[in-house]
Amino acid sequence: MTSDLRLHPRARRRLEAIVAHRAWAPAYLLAGPVGSGVEGAAAYLAKAILCTGNSPPCGVCACCRQVAAGCHLDLARFAPAEARRTDGQEGPIEVIRRLIAHLALRPSVGQRRVVVLPGVDLLQPAAANALLKTLEEPPGAAVLILTVRNPSAVLATIASRCQVVHLPLLDEATLTARGANDHLAAADAHLLARVATAQTGLASTLEPARLRGAWEECGAVWSLLAAGDPGALLAWVDTAVKGRDDDLDLWLAAFGLWLRDGLLLAAGRPAEALCFPELARRLPASRLPPSAFFEHGADLLLTAHRRLAANGQAKLVVGDLLLTLQRDLARGEGGGYHGPLTRVAVGRGG
Ligand SMILES: [Zn+2]
Repeated sequence: MTSDLRLHPRARRRLEAIVAHRAWAPAYLLAGPVGSGVEGAAAYLAKAILCTGNSPPCGVCACCRQVAAGCHLDLARFAPAEARRTDGQEGPIEVIRRLIAHLALRPSVGQRRVVVLPGVDLLQPAAANALLKTLEEPPGAAVLILTVRNPSAVLATIASRCQVVHLPLLDEATLTARGANDHLAAADAHLLARVATAQTGLASTLEPARLRGAWEECGAVWSLLAAGDPGALLAWVDTAVKGRDDDLDLWLAAFGLWLRDGLLLAAGRPAEALCFPELARRLPASRLPPSAFFEHGADLLLTAHRRLAANGQAKLVVGDLLLTLQRDLARGEGGGYHGPLTRVAVGRGG
C-alpha cells in the first residue's frame, strides 16, 4: 500500500477492497481537499488497474514502472478544468472532445485505458454536462478517475455515476496521531502528506527516510551543476548510477520534487508550500534560477523517464539530463536567462 494512503485508513481499506475485486467501475470519484493526498490515491488506483502483476499494484511489473515514470501508453491525464481559451489554446469543451476521441481508441498495451481527470468540481456547467455525457455512455475498455477538492461542487448527476471515495483533510493533530500509530515521526507524516499533493506519480512508493537521503543527494548534485564542471558531473553519474534500479527511481523522484520546489520558490511561493521547506535556505533568492529553468528541468526529467522506460541506458540518460541542466544553469549566469522556454518570458510581457 502506498505511503501516503497510510494516513487515510478508511480510504485505504476502501481502495484496497476495490483493487482486490478487480471488477472496475467505469468511473471513480476521489474527493479530498488540497493536502489530503487525493492525487496519490488516484495514482495508486491507476497503477493497480494497469498492473499485470499478481498483487496489484505490484510496483515491479513493466506496467507499474511505466505508470510510475508517467509514460504508460494506456494512462492519460485530461485536465479540462485547467484549460483556458487564451492565446489560441483549447478550452475545457475542446479538451473533453479530445477525451471522448481518446476513449474511443482501443487500449494500446493491456485490456483497458485509464484516464485521470483532476479538478472536475471546477468545471463550468457546459463542460460538466459534456463530461456527464461521457459518463452516461462509458466506453467498455476505459476507467475514468475523477478527482475533486469539493465534492459538493460536483454535479449530482456526475457523482451518481461514479464510485465515490472520500479522503478527508488531515489536520496537524490527526497527522501526528496517525504518524505515531504507524510509527512514523510527525515530520515524516508531514513530508508524506506534502509529497502526496505534489502529483509526482512517484510519490506513492516513497519511504520518508530513504526519500530524505535521496533528497540530500540531490543537494550534492546541485552543487555539481552549479560548479559548472561537466567532468565532475559525469564522475558522479559514473559512481552513483548503477543501472535501472529502485535507487535510481527514488533519486529521480527526489530530483523531481527538488525541481518542483525550485519552481514554486522561483514563482515567489513561501517555504511552507514546498515538499522540502529546507530548499528555501539552500537556494536563497540570490542563487535561485528563474522559473523557466525549473520548467525546462521538469520537461527534461519527463524525457529521461520515457527514455528509461524504453530501456535507455541509465548512465547515458541521467548524464544527458544533468549536462543539459548544467548548460541551462550556466547560461543563466550574468543576468538575462536565455533558456529554451523563452515563451514564458514573452507570455508574461505580452
Ligand atoms: Zn504491477
